[in-house]
Order: sequence, then C-alpha cells, then structure tokens
Amino acid sequence: MVSAPNALCFGHELPASGAPCLVQVGLHGLTVVFTADGREQQEEIPFTALAISVGGLDHDHLVLKWTSEQGERTLYLKDAELIRTFRRFAPPSLHVSFEQAATGARSARWKRTGAWSLAFLTLLILVAGLWWGSDLLVALAVERIPVEWEQKLGEAAYRDFLAHQTVLKEGPAVAAVQEITQRLVRPLSHNPYTFEVTVVKSDVVNAFALPGGYIVVFTGLMQSATSAEEVAGVLGHELNHVLQRHGLERIVKRLGILVAASIVVGDQQGLAGLMKQFGVELMTLKFGREQETEADVAGLRLLYDARIDPSGMIRFFERLSEKDEGRVEWLSTHPMSRGRAERLKAELMAMPKLTPLPFTFDWAAVRESLGAPFVSEP
Ligand SMILES: [Zn+2]
Repeated sequence: MVSAPNALCFGHELPASGAPCLVQVGLHGLTVVFTADGREQQEEIPFTALAISVGGLDHDHLVLKWTSEQGERTLYLKDAELIRTFRRFAPPSLHVSFEQAATGARSARWKRTGAWSLAFLTLLILVAGLWWGSDLLVALAVERIPVEWEQKLGEAAYRDFLAHQTVLKEGPAVAAVQEITQRLVRPLSHNPYTFEVTVVKSDVVNAFALPGGYIVVFTGLMQSATSAEEVAGVLGHELNHVLQRHGLERIVKRLGILVAASIVVGDQQGLAGLMKQFGVELMTLKFGREQETEADVAGLRLLYDARIDPSGMIRFFERLSEKDEGRVEWLSTHPMSRGRAERLKAELMAMPKLTPLPFTFDWAAVRESLGAPFVSEP
C-alpha cells in the first residue's frame, strides 16, 4: 500500500473504485505513486500533458486527465494543500481552467464548514435516539460522494451483469428505448449523469437502474407494453431512482451510521475500499417505500415535462398487476398497491392538460421486431 495517499487515481487496469495514490508536485509536472498488481508504481506526468477540470458533487475536486502508456488516467485531488501547491507550480497555460476549479474549491470549503456543524448537530440528534436522525445523516453523507465515484461503482456492477446476458445491440427496440430516454432526459435542468440504457433479450418482465445512470430494460417488459408511453412510464420511474441517488442512499445505509458520519466529516477516501465490496450487492438492494413513491411522482412529472402522455404509466402498472404477479419481476420490487395507484392518479389529475408529442417510431413495429404479435389496446 502507498503510505499517506493524498489523491485517488482511476485507470483501465486500476480498481473500479480507484487506487489511492501519493501525488507530489514538482517544477515540471507531477509524480504519482500508486499500487497496482501488488507492486508500487510511479508515473511522471509533465504539466503539458494534463487537462484540468473540476469534479465532485460540489465541484471541490480538481480533476486531472492524461494519457499514460496504460491508457487514459484520471486523478482526483481533494486535498486543499495539494491543490494550492499545484496552483503555485502549474504553468500559465493551465491557469484559466485552474481559476474556475479554485473558485469551486473555495465555495466547497465554505460548505464543508457548514457540513461540520451539521454533522455535529446530526450526531447530537442521534445521541438523543431520534430515528429520523439517521436518515438525515445518510442524506448528508450521500451529498458528499462525488458523482464520478458513483458512476465507477454503478458501471462495474452493470458490466458484470451484462457479461452474462444476451444484449440487443441494434434494431427497432434499441432505437425506441434510446429515443424514449433522450426525450425524458432533455427537459432536465440539472443532470450530472450520462444515462446508458441497455436492452437485454429475456422474457423477464423487468427493468432496473444502477447508481450512476446505468439502466437495463428486458425485452419481456417491452413485449408486455401496448404503447411506447407505457415503457416511458417505467423508464421515467427508473431514471428518478438515479437522479435522486436512491442506490447510494441504500448503500450508505447498509454500510452503517459510523461510515455515514465519517463521510460527512470529509473522510471519503476510506469509503472507496468499502464500496468496492458492494459492487455485486447493488443488484439485490431493494429500495424503500418512500424512495419508490418519490420515483413514481418525479417520474410522472418527468413524463409530463417531456410531453409524453403520463396516463400510460398508470395504465401499464395497473395492467401488469392484473397479470400473475409471480411472472412480473418488476412488480415483485414494485407492488402495485391501491395507495400507489391512487397517489399517481391524484398527481395526474392535478397536472394541467397536456398535448403529447408522438414518438418517431411505430410501437407495433418495435414489438413485432421482438417477436410479439401486436395486441391492440382494449
Ligand atoms: Zn422503483
């Protein structure tokens, strides 16, 4: 292990959760020391090879990218002293992008001071034994985790899962799902994710989302849908599990309250290792009821903003629940209770009338391409 690491390095052959590394700034560039394949390695990177940007949820990380002999590398600097030193030595050509990064880091330090007092307050609440205190702490911890880490984590689990599946790479079904996703994502005012949606050939009636924006839709679910709006309903729901960071909330909850507390007070690097072991477990984490309601309501809103008829979502959920529940996997994690249906209907009623915009594809043709005879809606 590298002693006293002060940054996190990502690369093709490095662990998905990043390799802790020691960064030293010199006159002409950086020296990065990390452990890979059980041995210590060192890379020298001249300033001229670096591209700078800001990262992290509150833009308090300095993100450096370069191409090494092993391929693309990304380095996350969070240490304030290290960032200052970097600034002192970096040549003028890097200064413009660096100024933006530094502004982000300064405002983040202010936020951190706030986070300290909040953490203290939260701990007091915990000591008082109030149950909701733990939820607040989880929310605070999740807020401190950079989107980039979440993506690395989700991506690893996603690739793992897809390796054992038959993936549809092209054709009407893939094009349709991509168009639906693009329509849903476009009206979002704040979206740090690049959604990746994969269609998996399987009779399973299901779809799920992993942290970081990775979504899987099974052809069984598409075959059960009588319109594209119905599939859009499921995708709108799943996209919101990502946007609201529900997966991360579950993971932090699972890791426990002490870990959550340590993330809040700034120890995120120690989290990387812990999170790595949760890669496969991500698949089996079930969301809580409040998270499901949130995804439903926000999903409906998303459909509305994308000018996709939101009644398809409710219709689909209800029709699926009339089927044999054991055969509809999506319902086993999303039971269609009377309360759920009524909540969605009430939300829909409260929305102003919408003139939907049609999709460019023909849903009957999409279903036929999957081998399902088209049944017109009753
Ligand atoms: Zn859900």
